[in-house]
Amino acid sequence: MSEHIFRSTTRHMLRDSKDYVNQTLMGGLSGFESPIGLDRLDRIKALKSGDIGFVHSWDINTSVDGPGTRMTVFMSGCPLRCQYCQNPDTWKMRDGKPVYYEAMVKKIERYADLFKATGGGITFSGGESMMQPAFVSRVFHAAKQMGVHTCLDTSGFLGASYTDDMVDDIDLCLLDVKSGDEETYHKVTGGILQPTIDFGQRLAKAGKKIWVRFVLVPGLTSSEENVENVAKICETFGDALEHIDVLPFHQLGRPKWHMLNIPYPLEDQKGPSAAMKQRVVEQFQSHGFTVY
Ligand code: SF4
Repeated sequence: MSEHIFRSTTRHMLRDSKDYVNQTLMGGLSGFESPIGLDRLDRIKALKSGDIGFVHSWDINTSVDGPGTRMTVFMSGCPLRCQYCQNPDTWKMRDGKPVYYEAMVKKIERYADLFKATGGGITFSGGESMMQPAFVSRVFHAAKQMGVHTCLDTSGFLGASYTDDMVDDIDLCLLDVKSGDEETYHKVTGGILQPTIDFGQRLAKAGKKIWVRFVLVPGLTSSEENVENVAKICETFGDALEHIDVLPFHQLGRPKWHMLNIPYPLEDQKGPSAAMKQRVVEQFQSHGFTVY
């Protein structure tokens, strides 16, 4: 593999680098040849069958989007509109680049030994990775046949579109539980919470692993009551839940909202203090969860 093909991201960089957005999520689509000569109808058909997927970008990272060294593919399209979204440039599927299923599988084959040696694999993220179930699940199926670990980073909002066979090829789900009650969830995302709960419970029943992610935004998601409700939802996932990541809100996504001319609701929002984060971590721990 040659250095210029991908960018390498570490958890340290994810947290601390001001250039994170440009270094990773805007990393582009080097190494993929986009389909050419497909008209609109062909593209819709190919999307439905999973022959192509609309991809924003991809990168190789370590311990960010699942265990080990992973290839994370950021799919285009998202039905939610989270106030704290760091990647509004992924919201519209049509803004992504079409990538052939075969090209994606070849890419995984190329890195398969690296993934296996590090306990890593492939992660689909977004945008919302579940917006394109045919493509993502076909790639996951191919990855499983190669013995490569699969991880879906999702809000679970579109979980109902996944069949049991599709769920079967997911090893780990990074499940965003964005709030603990419908009212707050709607305020934060514009969507509804129940599908996330349903999908988490389905994964648990199917024997899959879950890492819950909770973004802590002072005044928006931080109340003790909201955290308590998130904890209660997590309890319903039983042993499937390996840990909870409490992710402090930050402003690294702000330039993208400006660039896209979208009114940014959290323009002056501050991140949580260390004391607030500690309080939330301890609240989750009091339910017996491992929390990072
Ligand atoms: S689900 Fe993710 S990509 Fe979609 S709006 Fe929320 S934070 Fe952004």
